[in-house]
Amino acid sequence: MELKNKRVLVVGLGKSGVAAALFLRDRGARVTVSDARSAQELAKEIPALLEAGIAVESGGHGLLTFRRQDLIVVSPGVPLETAEVAQAARLGVPVIGELELASSFLRGKVVAITGSNGKTTTTTLLGQIFADAGLPTLVGGNIGLPVVELVEREAALATEADDVWSVLEVSSFQLETTAEFRPRIAMVLNITADHLDRHKTFERYAAAKARITARQGADDFLVLNAEDKATQMVAAHTGAQVFWFSAARRIRRGAFVHGESVLFLAAENGTPEPILPVAEIPLRGAHNVENVLAAVCAARLAGVAAESIRRTVREFHAVEHRLEPVRTVRGVTYFNDSKATNVDAAAKAIASFAGGIHLILGGKDKDSDYTQLAPLVRERVRVVYTIGSAAEKIERELAGVVKIEAAEILTKALALAADKAKEGEIVLLAPACASFDQFENYEHRGRVFREWVMNLKEQ
Ligand code: ADP
Repeated sequence: MELKNKRVLVVGLGKSGVAAALFLRDRGARVTVSDARSAQELAKEIPALLEAGIAVESGGHGLLTFRRQDLIVVSPGVPLETAEVAQAARLGVPVIGELELASSFLRGKVVAITGSNGKTTTTTLLGQIFADAGLPTLVGGNIGLPVVELVEREAALATEADDVWSVLEVSSFQLETTAEFRPRIAMVLNITADHLDRHKTFERYAAAKARITARQGADDFLVLNAEDKATQMVAAHTGAQVFWFSAARRIRRGAFVHGESVLFLAAENGTPEPILPVAEIPLRGAHNVENVLAAVCAARLAGVAAESIRRTVREFHAVEHRLEPVRTVRGVTYFNDSKATNVDAAAKAIASFAGGIHLILGGKDKDSDYTQLAPLVRERVRVVYTIGSAAEKIERELAGVVKIEAAEILTKALALAADKAKEGEIVLLAPACASFDQFENYEHRGRVFREWVMNLKEQ
């Protein structure tokens, strides 16, 4: 992509937006940035941009700013329907995201991981498997480092940048703004309802996820969840070799569980190769077995030896805020799954325990259907404590299913739960909602949970 003297507009000054603007400037583009937030709210970001010679528009978007560009780079947080963006696209200005921009500069191989849930866990695990196996590896995308920063690091990491593996977590919002993005290995972990407030329909959300494979060819691999209907459909839209993973049955080729073991099958008529006993997976929950299967499949496709994969999986611990065991006090164990920001993730968390659960639910609703939780809640949850702006909706949709305590805020929910929970029971934060009504983000919510639990007295 030639950027010298091109007029490029970056919309949205989140972490990846700022990084993209500086990246573009370094490559000789004439960069403008535009953000709906006020100059005051952007006080942290603006100085470095101005210093780099980047024009800053804050407090809204000017229509003219959007028309005079050769390229527009939109941040994942900015909907493509935003009037100025849509108008510029209609006028023929190419609109891409940071993932598309940066990945075109990566010289090595890319693994891209998407899905409604499990992206961070699987990306982190796979990155660790690669690194432990001695492959030059970078991890980033939707977690950690923006992809533009991986471009800079790739050159520094190896004499042959072509050898580097970039393991990227990619969201549906990032995929929406790709054009030529072509990962060597693409993975779709699952597609369940999430972000319908932005994508509007499930079909459009699934279509955004399917873009991960749109440009793949016969030398590439697509790894899919064989037990997830919407994910299976992605196979119809690929030119890549499809591999599957399943915890339930033997698949044509890919990773699966048979008896007590995780196996990998490289070819349809081949002999499955043992990778590790399921019992050695240190992460809680059936959903994490699926994440391990997905990572095993990709790692074998990249040529990592079974023994090496096994060593890494055995030592891998829950990523912070993902069904993370915090502490056991008076026989009650507290789990922080603040990252369970949608209904399916919350369901998977509940399903990870046999019963005796005190469940904290609520936050900012995303047009979710909480009735889907009813069967699991009836079976395993003793009390639900509701918090945040979604509380009333949750109380309505779970009425009659379980005892419900309206707690309003997280610390009050914790106090009530700590009081009620008996020895051997579980207090679980798996809120099924976004956090933005009462917290900065899900990490902040998880930290409040953890601090409260750490301060709880033994007596
Ligand atoms: P993501 O990056 O896609 O949000 P995470 O690994 O951060 O994925 O996990 C998000 C939430 O989903 C956590 O609450 C986690 O416990 C749960 N989760 C993890 N893996 C899966 C899976 N394969 N299916 C469903 N839920 C999952």
